[in-house]
Order: sequence, then C-alpha cells, then structure tokens
Amino acid sequence: MSLDRRLRIASAYMRTRLEARRLTDRKALAAHQQRLWRRLAPTLARTPALASLAGRPLADFPVVEPAEARADFAAWNSLGLDEASARAAAEAAERGEAPAQGRGFDAGFSTGSSGGERGLFVTTAHERDEYLGASLGKLIPPMRLLRPLRVALILRAGGSLYSDVTGAGVRFLHLGLDESAETQLQILKAFDPTHLVAPPHVLASLARELERRVSWRPALDRLFYGAEPIGRREAVWLAQAFGRAPQPIYQATEGFLGAPCAHGTLHLNEDSLIIEQEPFEGSDRWRPVITDLRRTSQPMVRVRLDDLLQTRREPCPCGSAHLAVEPVEGRVGDVWRFPGVLVFPREVDDALEAALGPSERWTAWGSPQGVTLSAATLSLRDLGATALRGLLQTRGVVIPIRTAPEPDPPFGPKRRRVRWAP
Ligand SMILES: [Zn+2]
Repeated sequence: MSLDRRLRIASAYMRTRLEARRLTDRKALAAHQQRLWRRLAPTLARTPALASLAGRPLADFPVVEPAEARADFAAWNSLGLDEASARAAAEAAERGEAPAQGRGFDAGFSTGSSGGERGLFVTTAHERDEYLGASLGKLIPPMRLLRPLRVALILRAGGSLYSDVTGAGVRFLHLGLDESAETQLQILKAFDPTHLVAPPHVLASLARELERRVSWRPALDRLFYGAEPIGRREAVWLAQAFGRAPQPIYQATEGFLGAPCAHGTLHLNEDSLIIEQEPFEGSDRWRPVITDLRRTSQPMVRVRLDDLLQTRREPCPCGSAHLAVEPVEGRVGDVWRFPGVLVFPREVDDALEAALGPSERWTAWGSPQGVTLSAATLSLRDLGATALRGLLQTRGVVIPIRTAPEPDPPFGPKRRRVRWAP
C-alpha cells in the first residue's frame, strides 16, 4: 500500500477521533454538520439531479427513495459518468479484472438494502480510504492500535475494500457467506482474529458449530454484527458462545450509518451524516432520511431508507452527543398491519425467541389473512404458534395461524425472520 494511501487512512482515523472529542454537544454537532454541508455544494453542483439546488439549505432538497437515485445513475453522480461505462467497469470488477490505470474510480454492484434490485455504485480511491479510516476511527481506540489487529469480515461483498490494506499492524481477512460454518471456523482458527464482523445468521451457525466442538474458541477483543436484525435472546446466546457480546454496526449501501460505543450502544454517525427522522405512523419508531456529508462521487442527499429505528429511552452512559438508537429491528415493509393494530418485528422476535429459544431457525410471515410460521420440528411449530396466538390476542387480533416446515434455504443472503405479505 502506498504511503499516500496510508496517510489518507491515518488522517481520516485521526479526524474521526478528534471530532469525537470535540463535538460533545448537539449545538457543536449541528454547526459542524452545517460547515460540511456548505463544503458539499460544489459537488452537488456537478451532480445533474441536484445541480439546480446546489447552495440552498438542505430542507429545500426533495426527499428521495433509494430506487429513484438508482434508476438514473448518470444524474446521480458527480464524476460525469454515464451508466454504460460504469456498468462495464462494475462487470469487469466482478470478473476479477484489475481496474484500468488512471481511471480514477472503482465501480461495483450492491444488492440494494432497501429496494431489492442490484444497484450500481462508484467510489474513488480517496473515498475508500476515507471510509476505512473513519470506520476504524469509530471502532478501534488509539491505544488498541499498539497491539496487532486481525480483523475477520464475513460479508457478502466488499472484500476488495480491505484486501489491499495491510501493514501498520492491521490485517484483514475477508470470508464469503457461502462457506460452511465448519470451513469458516477452520479459516478463522488459522487467522486467529482479534475482531470479527458478520451477520447474525452467520454468527448463529458458527455458534452452533462451536457448541458441537470444544477444541477451539476465538479469543476476540470485540465482536460486531451488521446487515440484518439480531434477536435480543440471540444476542445473549451469541455472547456466551463467543465470550464477547455482539455489538451492532449499522451499514448500508447508503453509507456507514452508525457504530457502537464502548458500551455497545449504537450511535448514529452524525459527524459525517445528517439523519432526519420521519415518524412512522404515530408510533415511537421512525425512518431515517440520510444525507451523507462526505460522500462525493455519488452524493446521497435526503435519501429515505426503509429501516425502522427507535431512539433509545435511556441516555447512554458514554455521554456521546451522537443520537443513541436501538439496533435496527427490521424494515418498514416487515411490520404486521392489521386493522387499527401494528405489530413490530421486535415484538414477534421477542415472542418467538421466548418460546423457541435463541438458537432455533424460524420465519414468521404475517398477512391480513393469517400468519405462517416455519420451523424445523412439529413441537417447535406448536410452541411457536401458541406464542404467536398469545401475542396477537393481547393486541386484539384473532386470525388463523398456519405452520409449515422450514423452507430450505429459509432466507437469502440477508435473513428476514419476520415478514409481511399484504
Ligand atoms: Zn454510548
């Protein structure tokens, strides 16, 4: 890795640490956001979809869905790229070809977290370094950098972001989601990670494997999860299996949205983002409307995500000015909607985990006609159906509950245990 890149990563790291110390109240944070917003104006002026509004206050910009921005790639980037050339570059990257020298950008595909279809994304080397430095700044305190750091990431994609970053006592290992838990454990054992990042369903299959064998256990400093919701009891079970409580990282195609503090509380990354709250149907949940103040190749201005967020009731003991939220419980589209009654994914999660235990695999699909619960055995299905009936009755909802054997595989790359099919 070049000295240039190392310096850029280090400077993003230091800036993130310094800002965390400086931005200690909401007023300072808001002033900082406004400064970054003004600095973003020239980038917005180069972005066809936003150019006519560049220089205006954020409130003047329209709120957009991720799909709208994805649908018109050329209008939503500031590099003057047309869709065909970006797509060709992304396809070449997918085939493992090295990017053309001096091209100035990298392209790839993301399975849009909030819309289903694959999104085309571009970034620059500068942005990737910035992203990595800021991520490390959020997650790794300076004192920890004095000892070697081995970070294992089990993710669907994005390995290329880290694979070329080594040295300075930091090593990354990227593992795909397709490997079996047994293979993943063998690779992890050889790598001996100090930090592990994976979706909960991967951590769960590793935990089942760890429970079967006692010969080796990872000795982790910290355990992180992301990409999908975790069950509350599942989190306790995983903490026992790994010897570390799993802490949430809130990351999406739309950016690095939140990170856990030393207490494990999820704080939104408001030093780099403005996150507006759109109330969700009179509940205490809300949808985030994201403006990324640092991303420039594909500006992200007032993009409304379909994640369900909930502000934490208790202030976090760390004292951070960054808003503390509960871990993401699911998507807006997964809320069960009966006449006059909303049932949230976390409520279904809690009821089924209490009845079935934290390590069982299940899915629960609600619809206006009834609920379908899938689980591996007859007795689990009976227990789960009773629990769901109880939950719905307390809410005044009486509908049929059907059961089905566990679909195989029960979910795609992202686990969604609670769903709604209108
Ligand atoms: Zn905190």
